[in-house]
Amino acid sequence: MDGNLQSNDLSGVVEADRAHVWHHLSQHAGYMAEENRTDPKIIVEGKGLRVWDQNGREHIDAVSGGVWTVNVGYGRESIANAVRDQLVKMNFFGGTMGSIPAAQFSERLISKMPGMSRVYYANSGSEANEKGFKMVRQIAHKRYGGKKHKILYRDRDYHGTTIAALSAGGQDERGAQYGPFTPGFVRVPHCLEYRAMDQGLGDLSGEAYGIACANAIEEIILREGPDTVGALCLEPVTAGGGVITPPEGYWPRVQEICKKYDILLHIDEVVCGMGRTGTWFGYQHYGVQPDIVTMAKGVASGYAAISCCVTTEAVFDMFKDDTSDHLNYFRDISTFGGCTAGPAAAMENMRILEDENLLENTTAMGSYMLEQLEELKGKHTCIGDVRGKGLFLGAELVADRETRAPLPEKLVAQVTGHCMAKDAVIIGMTNRSVPGFNNTLCFSPALIATKDDIDAIITSVDGALTTVMG
Ligand code: PLP
Repeated sequence: MDGNLQSNDLSGVVEADRAHVWHHLSQHAGYMAEENRTDPKIIVEGKGLRVWDQNGREHIDAVSGGVWTVNVGYGRESIANAVRDQLVKMNFFGGTMGSIPAAQFSERLISKMPGMSRVYYANSGSEANEKGFKMVRQIAHKRYGGKKHKILYRDRDYHGTTIAALSAGGQDERGAQYGPFTPGFVRVPHCLEYRAMDQGLGDLSGEAYGIACANAIEEIILREGPDTVGALCLEPVTAGGGVITPPEGYWPRVQEICKKYDILLHIDEVVCGMGRTGTWFGYQHYGVQPDIVTMAKGVASGYAAISCCVTTEAVFDMFKDDTSDHLNYFRDISTFGGCTAGPAAAMENMRILEDENLLENTTAMGSYMLEQLEELKGKHTCIGDVRGKGLFLGAELVADRETRAPLPEKLVAQVTGHCMAKDAVIIGMTNRSVPGFNNTLCFSPALIATKDDIDAIITSVDGALTTVMG
């Protein structure tokens, strides 16, 4: 460990954590048990792609802070300094006021997003998506007498944890027990080719499958009534739902359908944004032009809490066309959307991505890692499919290659547990690649990853699969 803390200095921290911290997404029974009690893992320090826990053990982080966030890696003093300097000068003024970093980062961000124009600041991915949903709803009221208010979302996609975002959630277990949900959200089918047979489309592949999935969206629009549908919200590459890369033909047809029925295209780049897939934004692989783009995790790589809801000038214009109406403007606010730490960190984060050529590295290392995963697939029959883009990759584990029955979650957990216990490699499992199953291993190392880092991750997974599956 680089710092001064020795492992025995931290025993009080572990007990304080056990006694008082309610961890995200966690079943706490193990921490509390009288027998076989486990300690919560506390991450104390990080540098590059490595983190150290309370016992001083070094780990390789293959998931960028657990949730695909720390794109430029740990221990970036230049980001910390940029934030520090800004906070000392001017930390916060909310409401209608602007700030220097917000103006400068907006200009820089928009320069990476041809066709986009306006940046609305918030704090989390869920919140950015809610802003987008509220814009769509308000446009429906302003322009269409409230009628064009429905928002389509896709099976297996995830847009956040608040009630409205869960209403747009394509992973049922995330939403279970939190209903009733917000009305006006309508689900469309997923586009995971490996699971096409579950949709009765098993005889289609590639472009034909992609177009069929997009056409299924059109059928739903026609069923609901195009004059009731305001927006379609999609992840460019589905993250937690199983690392799903859309098939050829999908996105162009989606864009065509949105144009045909005057439906806004809202792309959720909370995970894919800021270089994760090798382009600034995931949608830029597919030649589409969105109306609304939301982003969060990689915007400041976790050095500050910031999210953005970015729109075209045409969307912005709809909120300033009638000054005689006192409800005309976007009547939304986010207290800490006015905190300057976010855009100050984001500016420096973007400089690092550019100056260190991290998009190029992501493309090169992503291809290398995908090849390595393909090789593992050749060796381990439990790997049914590997997929992804850039440094955002998944390996779907199955009990049987013929039937594609998912590998039971207990075994998948043994694989990730083995990587952690033996090699201190942290890999992820996606939430619900198959309903009821967490059966896709997920890899999203920081965009600074080298071949050596990737080899270490792959070697660990290889060993874990051999041990667990024989
Ligand atoms: N959108 C996507 C695609 C996500 O994966 C997530 C979180 O993982 C969110 C939105 C929600 O972001 P947050 O947890 O910052 O609210």
